[in-house]
Amino acid sequence: MTTTPDRPGNGDPIISATHVTKSFTSPDGNVLPVLDSVSFTLHEGEIVALLGKSGSGKSTLLRCAAGLIAPSSGSVSYRGTPLNGANPGVSMVFQSFALLPWLTVQQNVELGLQAQGVAEADRRSRALKAIDLIGLDGFEGAYPKELSGGMRQRVGFARALVVEPDALFMDEPFSALDVLTAENLRNELVGLWEGNEAPVKSVLIVTHNIEEAVLLADRILVLSSNPGRIKAELTVDLPRPRDRRAPVFEALVDTVYGILTGREQDHADALTGTPTGGAARPLATPISAPLPQVSPGGLSGLLEILAARGGEDGMPELADELNFEVDDLLPLVDAAVLLDLARTAGPRIALTQAGNEFANADILTSKQLFARHAVAHAPLVRAIVQALTRTGDHVLREGLFLDLLHRGFSDEDARRQLDTAIDWGRYGELFEYDKGEGRLELAPEAVGVL
Ligand code: ADP
Ligand code: MG
Repeated sequence: MTTTPDRPGNGDPIISATHVTKSFTSPDGNVLPVLDSVSFTLHEGEIVALLGKSGSGKSTLLRCAAGLIAPSSGSVSYRGTPLNGANPGVSMVFQSFALLPWLTVQQNVELGLQAQGVAEADRRSRALKAIDLIGLDGFEGAYPKELSGGMRQRVGFARALVVEPDALFMDEPFSALDVLTAENLRNELVGLWEGNEAPVKSVLIVTHNIEEAVLLADRILVLSSNPGRIKAELTVDLPRPRDRRAPVFEALVDTVYGILTGREQDHADALTGTPTGGAARPLATPISAPLPQVSPGGLSGLLEILAARGGEDGMPELADELNFEVDDLLPLVDAAVLLDLARTAGPRIALTQAGNEFANADILTSKQLFARHAVAHAPLVRAIVQALTRTGDHVLREGLFLDLLHRGFSDEDARRQLDTAIDWGRYGELFEYDKGEGRLELAPEAVGVL
């Protein structure tokens, strides 16, 4: 495995993104930065995986590269020509399949050709070929609702492949399928690619699944979160089909775990202009340090399992043991690290002394410890406790905090952030919440906690 900025000797560039930056503006005028100066090139003959935590901007980047949305700044070109609308070289496969329920398999597959103005007889024979290639022979006349999830996604693939695109884009195409069906489809896709049977020149796949990226890709681009930037680029130089149990495979998975959970403080420093390693690091705010979306119950589960395994373990082993997807494990890890209850080093995670105390204490003591750490390290929890402490009756409407959060989050994300903070605050007996009234009140136990 090597880290390269680009691959000389690779095929011709098909799609190039240059300094793609994307922000969304909310109705009340707040700007949410999602992608920051992302550049990459997709070449003929390669499968590239775009890997990142959920919310890191993967789908947004894919949509920019497909020409479905325009970047706020920067540009995307297809074979050297800047895009001005949909990318003519791309077809997409979506997580949700996105089939038209009133059309048969055959008609769904023909759709793309119809848009290109291909004559009916030609459409028919090309669609049948794609349907055959993807293992749907005999289902031409079926409707999507008559098919299993795996079969529906096969239709999604056939519809994308029938136009013989230069680039096949896939946005988490396997994540709505059960484990076995997903693995089966992945293997078939690799088989088609390796046998040069898939009528595509390149593949770009978005995933949050580390093993999937290592299994499929020639190159992995790892996106950081808030905002999305390319944090690392890895070349996966292993023959296909790949063996998940091979030591080189496991070593790569470990490396990627380390990168994904590595400190992002350097980026935060770069944003605020604070020199890295400087003593005067700016205080994290509810917007610069979002709360990972986990429940205190899930977090204590993780800490207890770690304690049971002697206080430390490798994250891939932990995910395996718990039967967790990376997307389930990483937010828990992030929360434990944020709260100074665990630390990561490469692919390993270890309890801190406080984490150890938490895992071994009785429930009341661990709640109190959790409360102290939440106030000290979770900016939104701290902001809520601070604001409640400063009001006369120790009561505030949640709308106040939602307004604050809207400066940095979409409506949905602001709500999720507040819900998480409320969950953490209630667990730590810092404040109480009246959902009907949308009201927060400082808990008697928390008076003077600051
Ligand atoms: P990922 O695919 O990595 O999970 P997305 O690209 O879907 O991430 O989203 C990244 C961020 O951009 C999220 O915070 C999401 O809420 C926000 N976002 C995505 N699309 C829009 C949109 N159309 N309007 C406002 N915010 C958006
Ligand atoms: Mg996505």
